[in-house]
Amino acid sequence: MIPNVCLSRIFGALLWALTLSLVATPGRAQPAVDTAVVYQNAQFIAGDGSVLNDGVMVVRAGTIEAIGERADTPLPAGAESVDLSGRTVMPALIDAHAHIGYEAYTGWGAEHYGRENIIENLQRYAWYGFGAVFSAGSDPLELARDIEAARQAGEYRGARLLVASGMAPPGQGPNAAFLAHVLAVEARTGQRILRGAATAQQGREAVREIAASGSGFIKIWVDDRGGAQEKMPAEVYRAIADEARQAGLRVLVHQQAADDMPGLIDAGISGFLHGRIGPELDETMAAAMAQRDIFLVPNLGLSELRWERLADDPFLTELLPAGVVQRIGDAFDARTPAGPSASYEQDLREGMARLQAAGVDIVLGTDAGAVRDHFFGYAGHRELEIFVRLGMTPLQAISAATGLAAQHLGLTDMGTLAAGKRADFVVLDASPLADIRNTRRIHRVFLGGEAFDREAFRQAAQ
Ligand SMILES: [Zn+2]
Repeated sequence: MIPNVCLSRIFGALLWALTLSLVATPGRAQPAVDTAVVYQNAQFIAGDGSVLNDGVMVVRAGTIEAIGERADTPLPAGAESVDLSGRTVMPALIDAHAHIGYEAYTGWGAEHYGRENIIENLQRYAWYGFGAVFSAGSDPLELARDIEAARQAGEYRGARLLVASGMAPPGQGPNAAFLAHVLAVEARTGQRILRGAATAQQGREAVREIAASGSGFIKIWVDDRGGAQEKMPAEVYRAIADEARQAGLRVLVHQQAADDMPGLIDAGISGFLHGRIGPELDETMAAAMAQRDIFLVPNLGLSELRWERLADDPFLTELLPAGVVQRIGDAFDARTPAGPSASYEQDLREGMARLQAAGVDIVLGTDAGAVRDHFFGYAGHRELEIFVRLGMTPLQAISAATGLAAQHLGLTDMGTLAAGKRADFVVLDASPLADIRNTRRIHRVFLGGEAFDREAFRQAAQ
């Protein structure tokens, strides 16, 4: 049993590596390989907490060759120069929690799921300055790989796609409404998305199967959705976390209640999606998370954006067909949302301070696409605003969406502006360090050193 599993896993990994090497080199749309481009006279936010106020960045063949203060950075001879006076450069953003493919703007559901819509969603992310998206447990791995390989081959330009394989008690997974759509995609594509585990042994076997498929991530659903689903027992998630650690897989947890958090932290999971940051996450838990380097994605916009009339925000509506703007405006007017509880703001501000004091990494994620009208890219900029409102500095918020997100998703070649990283960056017309809402003021987006054509995408989207 075990030799077979190992062999197929190694074979799977080799195949994947071969696929990458085949598609990465030829045909990739690049300017002349040796031409360096020097971006200068800008503020550079590196994504690791550091800032260059008068920096230069040298990009060659899609990679950052050098970056530093102007005075200490030698410039290559014959380089093309781009003057970014008055502008700020930051790494392309990363959404560490989303669900790609179901949202098609004119509708939401399994019927829209497929290559074309996924690429549209990834380009929408790119329009908003995102360089990578982690789609958490709702995508067939093989299809996602094909789409990502096509991006690397230069067939389209958009955000990089990462996906997780899903695990839950048998027959469960995402909330009931979403689950039916995920199962419909499984049925149509004939590819596994979710695996059930009722016992520790089944959990271990499913992890081995996922490892053999070459997937790097497992999303597990642990909580009971307020009684609507069966909770994943502790011995099952402990076995999953243990087996995943041995196989080098990261385990991300959907957990909205606090009661299982100590057990999950102790089991050594990698991070919490929908992690609670209110009073239920106490200092002891925060310290244990920091000690084990477990990150947390709070997903606060998922609730908060429902309290706003988003149809009035041009940063969203300029990318939507007029009919959709009308529909979401009408829907908001018809439902008159209740808004936050009296203690909401203070609970979250205190929670944010508690997590920061303990040294827990808070990472940006939105859960965009999990439900209708929770919009890709836009939701990420709004989450940055929420982070700052709750007490992060703008610089910390940007790190949560760049360097820290990359670190916790194992994206070693992006997330920061540093020599050797991919040239995935956003040029802003004003500094987000002065006002986090300036992340909306996007001048240009570069992925792999090449500009993403935002205007063409905007026209197509409308
Ligand atoms: Zn989700």
